[in-house]
Amino acid sequence: MNGHGPNGASSVPPDDWSPSSWRTKPTKQQVVYEDESAVAKSRAKLQSVPPIVTSTEIWKLRRALADVAQGKAFLLQGGDCAELFDYCNDSAIDSKIKLLLQMSLVLIWGGNKPVVRIARMAGQYAKPRSSPMEKTADGRDVPSFRGDILNGFPEDQRKIDPDRLVQAYFHSAATLNYVRAQIASGIADLHNPLDWNLGRVGDPSVEGKYKMIVESISESLRFMRTVGADTAGQLETVDLYTSHEGLLLEYEEALTRRLRHPSNRTGPPRMKLAAGPKVSPLTGGALTDNSIQEPETTGYYNTSAHFLWVGDRTRQPDHAHIEYFRGIENPIGIKVGPTTSAEDLVQLLDIVNPNKEVGKVTLITRYGEGKVGDLLPKHIEAVRRTPHVVVWQCDPMHGNTRSTSTGIKTRSFHSVFNELSAALRIHKECDSFLGGVHLELTGDPVTECTGGSQGLQDEDLGERYETFCDPRLNEKQALELAFLVAGSQRE
Ligand code: PEP
Ligand code: MN
Repeated sequence: MNGHGPNGASSVPPDDWSPSSWRTKPTKQQVVYEDESAVAKSRAKLQSVPPIVTSTEIWKLRRALADVAQGKAFLLQGGDCAELFDYCNDSAIDSKIKLLLQMSLVLIWGGNKPVVRIARMAGQYAKPRSSPMEKTADGRDVPSFRGDILNGFPEDQRKIDPDRLVQAYFHSAATLNYVRAQIASGIADLHNPLDWNLGRVGDPSVEGKYKMIVESISESLRFMRTVGADTAGQLETVDLYTSHEGLLLEYEEALTRRLRHPSNRTGPPRMKLAAGPKVSPLTGGALTDNSIQEPETTGYYNTSAHFLWVGDRTRQPDHAHIEYFRGIENPIGIKVGPTTSAEDLVQLLDIVNPNKEVGKVTLITRYGEGKVGDLLPKHIEAVRRTPHVVVWQCDPMHGNTRSTSTGIKTRSFHSVFNELSAALRIHKECDSFLGGVHLELTGDPVTECTGGSQGLQDEDLGERYETFCDPRLNEKQALELAFLVAGSQRE
């Protein structure tokens, strides 16, 4: 029935959908496990463990993203390109939480609206690769690293290992457990002073501008404390949601649960037509029309993260990933790039969001600084001609990757900022607005992207080049980007 009830209304979850219906479709980035019985064992384990996130939390984020889609809040999403199981340690987690918090304060200052924070963390373990094999330094062909959930980075660990599915769950749960504990213990308590040190800022006028913003934020916080504006404890804690690319459907399916909707779900309850002819309780005769409706009280939730996105390589409308994504209640993202046609984009929205729910879908645009000017207006216009109200989020990282002359994968801060500021400007010119940013970043002082206030050059990248996939902004570059965005939001 193509997800349509007898009266033509779309039903959610669609009638012809199940957590495993993706298996009937062609799958990009397919994983071939050699040992099916080991996979079955991991699957059974994942199906029995408790959810990592709850439907109540998922709906809280859905509501927050509905606000973002309507311009009432801004979305900040960031974290590693490839999260390793080894990043499940207190200092790596602490520095990322603190950085996201600090960036969000700057963005609140800039946009004068609340900021919704989503970490690319506690589950960002699967990576799409352009080639299944790669060359080692000494010229051998080895399977590519596909993320800790599949294989290991060291060359002798490249064989796909089904036990990693279960390890991913426990690392994800341990990470989120620590995040929750730290937030409950006051890591995000704004009564504590924050470290705003940007290191050496080359240009004194830029430094002066940042200092002014920090002073303005600190002053506002002081004022709120003084006047007792914190009676509800709002300065003590924040919401931080988790996300990852929903790439490894074997894992996502196993953690998908049919759950009762939380009572605080917003909007009118969606009605699902009861199936088949019914017998009238009064006359005992068969009811031939479909006038009996039952409130739909349950739905399918991906309980591995609050938010999942479909990557640029796996978003074909008739393929497995979109099939999986159309059935879950979570808010979802779709990467949109130079190869996304306007027709595909509209078709995708209709498939994954048949009921046109506001803010259910975040379009994560990643064109590259040279292409955003041509492509973004066309995509904005295509969506405008539909009833869909989406969150427009800019990922200024993935269209701006380049190789240095010595073959190191990097991104220049300048290009990242150019795409982001172009997206801000273009949305304004098109009578739309940018709802958020999606960044690859780390709280550590790595040297993976060039530029920024420290003026990192290609030659400096060797110093602390630590990523196992794409280059990330370091903590100073990420904070600086927030300052620049906030500055242009205020212009
Ligand atoms: C990513 O976000 O790490 C990624 C692989 O992005 P994209 O799908 O946009 O290439
Ligand atoms: Mn990446």
